[in-house]
Amino acid sequence: MNPKTKIKVIDKIYPELLRKLESCTLCPRNCHVNRLKDEKGYCGQNKNLKIYSSFLHFGEEPPISGKGGSGTIFFSGCSLRCIYCQNYKFSQLDNGKIMEEKELAKVMLDLEKKGAQNINLVTPTHFLPQILKALKIAFQGGLNLPIVYNSSGYEKKGIVKVIEPIVDCWLLDFKYINPKTGLNYSNSPKYPNIAKEVVLYLYKQRNGPNKLNRGQITPIIIRHLVLPNHIEESKQLILWLNENTPNIPISIMSQYQPYYNAKNFSKINRSLSWEEYNQIKKITEDLEPDGWFQEFRPQENLAGIYLKENDR
Ligand code: SF4
Repeated sequence: MNPKTKIKVIDKIYPELLRKLESCTLCPRNCHVNRLKDEKGYCGQNKNLKIYSSFLHFGEEPPISGKGGSGTIFFSGCSLRCIYCQNYKFSQLDNGKIMEEKELAKVMLDLEKKGAQNINLVTPTHFLPQILKALKIAFQGGLNLPIVYNSSGYEKKGIVKVIEPIVDCWLLDFKYINPKTGLNYSNSPKYPNIAKEVVLYLYKQRNGPNKLNRGQITPIIIRHLVLPNHIEESKQLILWLNENTPNIPISIMSQYQPYYNAKNFSKINRSLSWEEYNQIKKITEDLEPDGWFQEFRPQENLAGIYLKENDR
């Protein structure tokens, strides 16, 4: 979809999404706080758009980073708030800079000038109306890059459906398949069902008869971060993906470290072992999916090398 058509979609959906801030139901937490009156919900954010950083990211999956880097924008706050989050300083401790939408549009245009291959919105949902307004300004100012929606997978299908035409690549985490793990580490036993619903919906949209032309960018990538002492769960999750969403590239990540509050949880208070990661590699390789393995303990958090040599 070209920028002009995306502007039309934004014009159509923006008023309703903005209204949602009055009794916020943008994500599955459904806090019903009035963010327009400066109330904060579970994500820790009111109406003010807050950005932690923006930069060219060369460590995402190869089709996302490309040659010029991914124009990555990290937003402050998060609706999932995993207890081991490596980005906790801004996702949970609220570091960042408040910006007007027109300033965010300038950030996007500057990333394009620097050679970004796309605009990579990281954990954006709690700022969706503000981001759409910024995107419209950026498109009007000449932005012509694919939009990557880089999400925890904790999304409402209804919201995903509404913004689907604007997003060129869904870069979705699929963190847990066991409700108890979702409860323990992200205070959401519903996470597995929520992520499954979104993944299945997007799979249908992007591989079925409704498939839209997304240009050169991979339309959907599922990421899974392997947790220590949770190898059986990772195995089940990968088997579920293989059965239910074949052909979607998966990105298996090894970079887990016990950040933030993970030290208080005995099963995940250490990094992943080489033996654990190798078990997951073996299971995944046997299924021969498309996608990437992250190098074990990557120096720079690079997100992947190809699972199949001939995909390179
Ligand atoms: S976006 Fe924030 S305030 Fe809105 S429902 Fe989600 S967690 Fe609550």
